[in-house]
Amino acid sequence: MQLKTQVLVLGGGPGGYTAAFRAADLGKQVILVERYPVLGGVCLNVGCIPSKALLHVANVLNEAKDLSPAGINFVQPEINLGQLLDWKNKISTQLNAGLAALAKQRNIKVITGTGRFVSDTQVQVDAQLIEFEQAIIAVGSQPVKIPSFPNDDRRLIDSTDALNLEDIPEKLLIVGGGIIGLEMATIYNSLGSKITIIEMQEQIIPGCDKDLVRPLMTKIKKDYDNVFLDTTVSSIVSVVDGLKVTYQGKAAPESDVFNKVLVAVGRRPNGNLCGADKAGVTIDERGFIPVDKQQRTNIKHIFAIGDVVGNPMLAHKATHEGKIAAEVISGLASEWRALTIPSVAYTDPEIAWMGLTENDAKAQGIDYEKGTFPWAASGRSLCIGRKEGLTKLLSDKKTGRILGAGIVGTNAGELIAEAVLALEMGATVEDLALTVHAHPTLAETLGLSAEMIDGTITDLFIKKR
Ligand code: FAD
Repeated sequence: MQLKTQVLVLGGGPGGYTAAFRAADLGKQVILVERYPVLGGVCLNVGCIPSKALLHVANVLNEAKDLSPAGINFVQPEINLGQLLDWKNKISTQLNAGLAALAKQRNIKVITGTGRFVSDTQVQVDAQLIEFEQAIIAVGSQPVKIPSFPNDDRRLIDSTDALNLEDIPEKLLIVGGGIIGLEMATIYNSLGSKITIIEMQEQIIPGCDKDLVRPLMTKIKKDYDNVFLDTTVSSIVSVVDGLKVTYQGKAAPESDVFNKVLVAVGRRPNGNLCGADKAGVTIDERGFIPVDKQQRTNIKHIFAIGDVVGNPMLAHKATHEGKIAAEVISGLASEWRALTIPSVAYTDPEIAWMGLTENDAKAQGIDYEKGTFPWAASGRSLCIGRKEGLTKLLSDKKTGRILGAGIVGTNAGELIAEAVLALEMGATVEDLALTVHAHPTLAETLGLSAEMIDGTITDLFIKKR
């Protein structure tokens, strides 16, 4: 059977469905091919959404425990894993249904099946050959597997398995102290697992500014069994009562046995898995598909978006790129112009940052000013029983323009939005300092960190130099 379309989108994750919807809204005839029976990709089915649902549960459990100094003591929670799983799945299912309805309303033909390019104008899905005028590759990424680990052992899991909540392992090792590993640690720790984290770099969330990571590190060192930095796994062997892990690192013991090991060492792009080479599309040695500012590959009428085009592998980057590709295909002069892509670790405490990091500012020799406001001086933070947070603002020394911001603390992921908007609007430190923030809010710590640079702070006493 042969079908024809103006735009073919391969992959129904946040990048792919956004591109398909936008192209249809701009008047294009669109076919969307997705190998799974539901739309939403990694983010909606085994990523952002299910992890945040479980992190909400973790937060409630943790907050209930944290009320004990206020004289409120709850009994030990009874956890019904099956019900928790159903509740979490229902959230994804509801959003899946929403996406299906949105596709239908736009007359997008959704085809279920694995698509492969067979030429630069055709994609094969099972017995169907689809001829397209323009295509958008949005095939995403998958967890990195380490070949020397016992990948057939069901006790060795990745983030997708972890979100399926098969059980609550008594002792859980997480290999990889990046955002995904740490979010999974937050979930399983709240459910009762004893957590060990192993990270090969000298810091968890490598690349993130040290001062932002410190409060999280302090907390997890207290809450978890072990956090080993500068440490690698030399081997994992299946034994009767678990997985025996041998380490290499100064502080780590020689070996230990865990009920489960979660490998969270990164994700690799699916560029090589959709026959893009048959269309003449360049794929680099890591599996990424290089694109220009308009998301165009080396083949003029084929575009690529999302995880498959590069880091950071984030849903909001994928959707933004999806809109650009759809708009360019529809004749608009769109291109990537956003100044920053915010990053958020939904850990406890959360960490969020955007724009220039202090690490980058130093490495690039940028003349910057820094204002940090400690949440120990925030009334709102104390009211929620927390004082470890920090809000940091970086600005250009000459112009006062905001260059970057980082926040660690409760709801940092929500709070960073104001800094992103400030950066995009070209705001200065004075703009933020003179913006009236509601009191008492955590959001006002952004205004206060601007006041720290502006020299107008009254919530703290800074000695005049
Ligand atoms: P994907 O979501 O990977 O979608 C690609 C789709 O293409 C998939 O549905 C796949 O089935 C389909 N596909 C692949 N090959 C073919 C083919 N040949 N034919 C047909 N279909 C195909 N990001 C955030 O921004 N915030 C978060 O909080 C966050 N949390 C995460 C938590 C976890 C545990 C994980 C694993 C990821 C998380 N991410 C988060 C990352 C986010 O999920 C990805 O960046 C995002 O899903 C990428 O979107 P995409 O459209 O590029 O690809």
